[in-house]
Amino acid sequence: MSDVTGRLAPSPSGEMHLGNAFAALLAWLSARAQGGRVLLRLEDLDLPRCPARYSQGVMEDFRWLGLDWDNDPAYQSQRSAYYEDCLVRLAAQDLLYPCYCTRRELHSGPTEASAPHTAAPVYGGRCRALTAAQRADYEAQGRRGALRLRVPDQVYALTDGHLGPYAANLAREVGDFILRRSDGLYAYQLAVVADDAAMGVTEVVRGRDLLPSTPQQLYLQEILGFSHPEYCHLPLLLAPDGRRLSKREGDLSLRALSKRYKSTELVGVLGCWAGLLDKPAPVTPQELVPEFSWGRVPREDITVTDLPSS
Ligand SMILES: [Zn+2]
Repeated sequence: MSDVTGRLAPSPSGEMHLGNAFAALLAWLSARAQGGRVLLRLEDLDLPRCPARYSQGVMEDFRWLGLDWDNDPAYQSQRSAYYEDCLVRLAAQDLLYPCYCTRRELHSGPTEASAPHTAAPVYGGRCRALTAAQRADYEAQGRRGALRLRVPDQVYALTDGHLGPYAANLAREVGDFILRRSDGLYAYQLAVVADDAAMGVTEVVRGRDLLPSTPQQLYLQEILGFSHPEYCHLPLLLAPDGRRLSKREGDLSLRALSKRYKSTELVGVLGCWAGLLDKPAPVTPQELVPEFSWGRVPREDITVTDLPSS
């Protein structure tokens, strides 16, 4: 086996749909085509929204598709102590502070601009320099602080293995971002960086909707002393009206599709959308490994107009 370690990292907040399957298949193919390992991690931090039966369902769907993995699955919901350790290390560098802003305050600050890539407001730094007395006042009012990470006025850049150069100035385009919500939930950004490092992941393949958060993750890797994995971001699957395929499209859930199609038929369709087959033909993921090349995968989003006729 090579030193390449890829990962499948589904968020089991509902049934898997075609978009999830597309991303998982390509992450799996990229690692396997290099002779690498594939690890499975269930991103179930928000446990009330990600009950265990969904995690089971995701694994059944992956197996049905013919995707395998080389570890005992890791569950983010069981790794809180590790995330807390990471926060302690950042606090020791004086990089964290509590933010007591309400949602309304966050959206009404005079210094806030909209982040160009994410459309999320850039945090204006309202709580950055609170005194101990001001913090005590908020706590006395019963407000619980979220933990924000100080970001530098600095550009973080990467060369995405599929989409090319990407960069963002963290202070101007992102702002200090939350690592632990006021209700105690760890942020995706922290958990994904911490887990990729702990699991030895060298290659991250995921939808391009996550490209804008990559500079934040590069910064977190730097201040936590982790190495940077390679990133390859994928085009998204879109419904004919231009919206991203989502878990709301119940008829495009793998569970529903598995009643109408064989797994090899669906893998053939996904492989065709990925540019690896000229036309959809029944195939297993293993059979697609020799066909895989990033040069064949489209960079533009893929509009899903027709499903295979079985
Ligand atoms: Zn604040």
